[in-house]
Amino acid sequence: MDFYRPVWAEVNLNNIKDNLRFIRTLIPKSTKIMAIVKANGYGHGKIRVAQASIKAGIERLGVALVEEALELINNNIKVPIHLLSEPPISSVKVLVKNSTSNNLIISVVYTKDFVRALSKEASKKNRRCLVHVKVDTGMHRVGISIEKAVDLVKYISSLQNIEIEGLFTHFACADDPENSYTLLQFERFLKLKEILEKNNFKFKNYHCANSAAMLNFPETHLDMVRIGIAMYGLRPSEKTFSPKLKPALSLKAKISYLKEVEKGEGISYGLTFKANKKSLIATIPIGYGDGYPRQLLNSGVVLVRGKRVPVVGNVTMDQIMIDVTDLNEIEIGDEVVIIGNQDKGKIEVNELSRALDTIDYEIVCGITNRVPRIYVD
Ligand SMILES: *Cc1c(COP(=O)(O)O)cnc(C)c1O
Repeated sequence: MDFYRPVWAEVNLNNIKDNLRFIRTLIPKSTKIMAIVKANGYGHGKIRVAQASIKAGIERLGVALVEEALELINNNIKVPIHLLSEPPISSVKVLVKNSTSNNLIISVVYTKDFVRALSKEASKKNRRCLVHVKVDTGMHRVGISIEKAVDLVKYISSLQNIEIEGLFTHFACADDPENSYTLLQFERFLKLKEILEKNNFKFKNYHCANSAAMLNFPETHLDMVRIGIAMYGLRPSEKTFSPKLKPALSLKAKISYLKEVEKGEGISYGLTFKANKKSLIATIPIGYGDGYPRQLLNSGVVLVRGKRVPVVGNVTMDQIMIDVTDLNEIEIGDEVVIIGNQDKGKIEVNELSRALDTIDYEIVCGITNRVPRIYVD
């Protein structure tokens, strides 16, 4: 679709591919990469990111929702797609329908009710479904408890047309390299693996590590790492980052309007900013409806002509104002960088997440659908 409003997110797919190739050098040769493209590829666009990741050699994809998996399949994505949490029972029909040699959705299970329903549908359609069992080793979000895991595995193994292809867990604190809780969770996981093996249950894939654990706890790599934030070149937390990872997303716009305001005049809703001198104020056609956080009123910064320029006044749904008084020769149509580089200037996602007391994930996931994604490949 054409777009008329000059606001766009530029996604550099080469950086995503380079990041994945770099991550490959950090893990054992036999360890697979599951590239996580949930939430529209962390705001980067799940289809194009999935395609680029496959080109970079990843073995699997991971999503949160059945809907997301189906969208990948409908766009001709052919690698196995993992769901990261157990889907609703109402989805078993579509899961079985898409469990063919071409399209493969690998469900997560941790309740007997779900896996029983999946088995029943799979038997009816004479298909075989692969599942991974998720174990809760201490995060307490989803997953079968360690104590009940052996019983659940036995139960699943007794069902028709279901194969357990993997066992996994998720870490609560892997973004802090000093926190030993990750190793406690890992120990619990390995102990369960051992107990299951003693009971003759052995699976092809054991996995635990997200981006943070991949970077901070190499001993947890096992058969597969589940990589989200790091492939986008962003950081799991303040404490965890590799400078080799290159951010893939820039957020850009163009000045849509310019005006002079007199000393003492207020700007935007509530007139929360007052000009302390005669000022040149530019309007940018991006607002909280696009994911530019409203909390950045009177504190946000953008780049114009490579220089840092303050956001003045409230962030509105569709527009923000910036003070360009100190710049020379500003014109309507000049490019504004909200996230990314311009000449010597740079605004990282992390600058926004620190200012807002949040994490990089929330900033990029927050860029809404009405911002067109433009791909550089
Ligand atoms: C989202 C998710 C990941 C990816 O996490 P990152 O921190 O982005 O690498 C891995 N595993 C599970 C279960 C997830 O839900």
